[in-house]
Amino acid sequence: MSKERIFIKVEGIVQGVGFRPFVYNLAISLNLNGWVNNNSEGVYIDIEGDTDKVVSFMRNLEQNPPPLSRIENITSSSLPMCNYSAFTIKESEKSQNSITLISPDIATCDDCTKDILDPNNRRYKYPFTNCTNCGPRFSIIKSIPYDRDKTTMKDFIMCSECEDEYTNPLDRRFHAQPNACSECGPKVWLEDNKGMEISSAIDPIAFAQKLLTEGKILAIKGLCGFHLVCNGKNDRAVSLLRERKLRPHKPFAVMMKDIAAASKYCMINSLEEDLLTGIRKPIVLLNQKAEYNLPESIAPNQKTLGVMLPYTPLHQLLFNEDIEVLIMTSANIYGLPLEYDNKSARENLSSLVDFFLMHNRDIYIPVDDSVVKVVDNELRMIRRARGYAPEPFRVNLNNKILACGPNMKNTFSISKENLLFVSQHNGDLENIETYNHYKRNIEHFKDIFLFSPDYVACDLHPNYTSTHYAEEYGVKTISVQHHHAHIASCLVENHLDKKVIGIAYDGTGFGTDNKIWGGEFLICDLKSFTRAAHLDYVKIPGGEKAIEEPWRMGTSYLYSAFEKLGASNNEYLNDTLVKLYGSEASALIKILDKNINCVETSSMGRLFDAVSSMLNIRRKVTYEGQASIELEAVIERDCEEYYNYSISHNRDKDLYNIEVYTTILDILKDLNNNISVSTISSKFHNTVIHFTLEMCKILREKTRINDIVLSGGVFQNSYLLEKTIRILKSYDFTVYSHNQIPSNDGGISVGQLAITNELINCKCK
Ligand code: ZN
Ligand code: ZN
Ligand code: FE
Repeated sequence: MSKERIFIKVEGIVQGVGFRPFVYNLAISLNLNGWVNNNSEGVYIDIEGDTDKVVSFMRNLEQNPPPLSRIENITSSSLPMCNYSAFTIKESEKSQNSITLISPDIATCDDCTKDILDPNNRRYKYPFTNCTNCGPRFSIIKSIPYDRDKTTMKDFIMCSECEDEYTNPLDRRFHAQPNACSECGPKVWLEDNKGMEISSAIDPIAFAQKLLTEGKILAIKGLCGFHLVCNGKNDRAVSLLRERKLRPHKPFAVMMKDIAAASKYCMINSLEEDLLTGIRKPIVLLNQKAEYNLPESIAPNQKTLGVMLPYTPLHQLLFNEDIEVLIMTSANIYGLPLEYDNKSARENLSSLVDFFLMHNRDIYIPVDDSVVKVVDNELRMIRRARGYAPEPFRVNLNNKILACGPNMKNTFSISKENLLFVSQHNGDLENIETYNHYKRNIEHFKDIFLFSPDYVACDLHPNYTSTHYAEEYGVKTISVQHHHAHIASCLVENHLDKKVIGIAYDGTGFGTDNKIWGGEFLICDLKSFTRAAHLDYVKIPGGEKAIEEPWRMGTSYLYSAFEKLGASNNEYLNDTLVKLYGSEASALIKILDKNINCVETSSMGRLFDAVSSMLNIRRKVTYEGQASIELEAVIERDCEEYYNYSISHNRDKDLYNIEVYTTILDILKDLNNNISVSTISSKFHNTVIHFTLEMCKILREKTRINDIVLSGGVFQNSYLLEKTIRILKSYDFTVYSHNQIPSNDGGISVGQLAITNELINCKCK
């Protein structure tokens, strides 16, 4: 029988994920000799034996690697035989200056779940059970290399049984850094909102269940932050939590006992089921079933519900026969970052909760729950954090760049060695606490990925905190137009390197003409863009306030529609507005007449706001995007009608202008004819889809470009996204949209980085 020896290098996420024991077991099972080790560049394997066994080894390595690993690259070369007598795991080598990939925090695996449910297992009901295939990673790592003493598990000294598991290559817990048991590991306890431990709670989790069943509100420390938790079937508890949190409408996410419970209330397709039950366990936005009967206060005016399944043993243990649905909302004070430290949580959350379920495994880096949904049968990332960050994307970005991101829904990105690391969701940088977290997170990324930027990218907006950060950084700064960045982020994720028609439908972004953009058609690649068309400008009366008060945009749109008819001063306008919005509207007309503090905008988000307010769905919002989310929620799915609109062309600027004043007047007509808001909302959505198609046809005719890229926060609207994709495809366009990178501002840093990389390379040539 022929024999051979090969040397294999495996790159990717292969550390701290059980790769060496996997290789060891595979080699032993195939009777192969040699060794395996790892260093920061990857895993090295030297293996010899029967040729067919070596082939089988390679196939298994490629096709069935450990669940948490992600192989980026495998190279192999043959070597002369050297007749090893056994297979061994060699000590890791530590080399300098190369990136070690760090696994995200991973949901409890099936084996660990079995352990905690088995009364004969020594980890029965132990809430911190984990193994090489699951458990905390990114959130507990203080620095690299990834070893226990560089994590927040440092102070827990393993008992002899845990130590045996940790050192046995055949054990599932071999080198599982957070390995622990009830003898040696972290512990939970219960305390009241004055910080007094409830000593009668001998089994704190069982006690917590009792409190939840009674309708109490708890702060529960989880994997990478605190949650505010109450029984999701108890309307009074949910409403009380809303009152205490000063959060009247924004939907709460829920954690459900298991997939069977989730499917009682929501429709779940196979991709959604995979996401709910997979290793990352994000919040998945699901459509409510017709028989949905949970309290309206969980997700007011919604037809969807954000659902996740338990992702740690602690969460699994919270459920019982009486507890099937728990509200699990990020524990923070309005506008402030997620709480993750015991002391700070006590200080800041005691007025919101009745009790705390605490533990003493420190969280070093807080990470929010990720949020995803499935549209047109594909995953759409909405908030990329736990379970995903800091897993990198392999891309063609060769420069060392830090992209600082926008101000809202901030993420930053770094690139090094053709890897793109997008930070976890940092939130809105407008308050100092969040900004401090942002700075700390950038420093942490620099440390753990041995990164120092040669260039810094930021938004064109001169007043973003992230822009100031970039300018003060001290290396060359490149500013990038917001919507060009949106489209570029989608180009990167689709590995596109050509000119496309980019459609950015967005809330706000600073334009090159100092106006607020957001309904843009850009002919662009990564290098540059030309603005080819946009939604017609309207005034934003009263500046920023208009974002919280959509009726102001409604007033502005109606004002401008009447103006187009040459009738802005007539009484009918005043009567119409007062009838819609009350006497406040009259004052706003004066502001518009005199053009006081009125910036112009082409924002698609503001158009949705305006229509939502006209239909009296939402005149003032209590959370971002509420007006358009609720407008989408009332849609009638089988309506195909749409309103009038027009497209004009400015020859001097070679710029198309999409005018919707006829749309607005048609809506007014429908309102006066008592047409239902469902029908009007559908007709409005269809109108946007139709002018999008028409604009694409015009631009294809002109530029011969057939590739359409969709980005911007407005494309989080499922109806709009799905229908736009379908109609464009039916006219033979090739359509690209987002999957892993959010279409909202969470993706901006990726676009900033890609554009900056391209500009640097052009200048270097
Ligand atoms: Zn496990
Ligand atoms: Zn132990
Ligand atoms: Fe944006």
